[in-house]
Amino acid sequence: MKHILLLSTGGTIASRPGADGLEPGLSGEELIASLGDLKGRFDVQVRQIMNLDSSNIQAEEWQLMARCVYESIPDYDGIIITHGTDTMAYTASMLSFMLQGLRKPVVLTGSQIPMENMLTDARNNLFCALAAVEAGISGVSVAFNRHIIRGCRAVKVRTMGFDAFESVNAQYLGEIFADGLRVYPPTFIPDGELVLRDRVSTDVLLLKLIPNTNPKLFDLLPQIGYRGVVLETFGAGGLHFHHRNLLEKMRMLHQRGIVVAACSQCLYEPSNFTIYEVGRRLLETGVIPAGDMTTEAAVTKLMWALGQTEDPAQVRELFGRNLCGEISE
Ligand code: ASP
Repeated sequence: MKHILLLSTGGTIASRPGADGLEPGLSGEELIASLGDLKGRFDVQVRQIMNLDSSNIQAEEWQLMARCVYESIPDYDGIIITHGTDTMAYTASMLSFMLQGLRKPVVLTGSQIPMENMLTDARNNLFCALAAVEAGISGVSVAFNRHIIRGCRAVKVRTMGFDAFESVNAQYLGEIFADGLRVYPPTFIPDGELVLRDRVSTDVLLLKLIPNTNPKLFDLLPQIGYRGVVLETFGAGGLHFHHRNLLEKMRMLHQRGIVVAACSQCLYEPSNFTIYEVGRRLLETGVIPAGDMTTEAAVTKLMWALGQTEDPAQVRELFGRNLCGEISE
């Protein structure tokens, strides 16, 4: 019998119609009760740690979740976190950085339709999460629509479809077929003991470049107190310096100790800043290439790295390391 802790945080899975639309209302106990009799196979303890639409989940909530997992994991075979789908990929990435060295399963799941609705996908997704724990799929993952995705590779790609999450630039950790759950060999195995590193900086901006992005925008960042920027560049890695010179602004940010990481606007495949002149000139300004990290992973990793140290050189070093399977090597 597997001993599982379910941490419920809200989201559609736990929502009910309210005066102004769907709002989280169902307790963790009610969620697990809807699965029927799990006796003999799973012993599930439930702890409701918040009840929020995931749009309201931010640094404080990530820290609360990470601390709960860190303190409780020795007593369980695995932990399931029910969570809204909208920011689940950010939470899954951030927990992966905060809880390095994790060897037990910590599985996030949610649903597109509330548990109480007849058409719900919630039961299916929760059973998928239970199966991931039962199979011992270690580390932080997302269980959704019969797929288990490494947490730092998950991206929400659909607003309505049940296949709302994809595993970007990484194979699934597991998949459910008619013959059961197939678990694939892990491509990342952590070394070292489980550590809780839950300090983060919230002074990080994500900016998706568009043709004509006004360079003056970047002059504001030091004034507002930003310490890090993730730049979603064009294609394999480009930005404009003709008519509107963004390169000199990147250089200015670097000189002022603001760390800039650059990834691609394309969802799939790695960025590569060495192919084109526009990319090479960007690298010369001191930006850090994000390889094939998802935007969600790059943003949370920069927040996390800036929480570990004040020294931009150390942030750069941490950002470049593969910490939990977020970069292909
Ligand atoms: N707005 C909801 C949330 O992220 C959406 C969902 O859970 O699917 O909390």
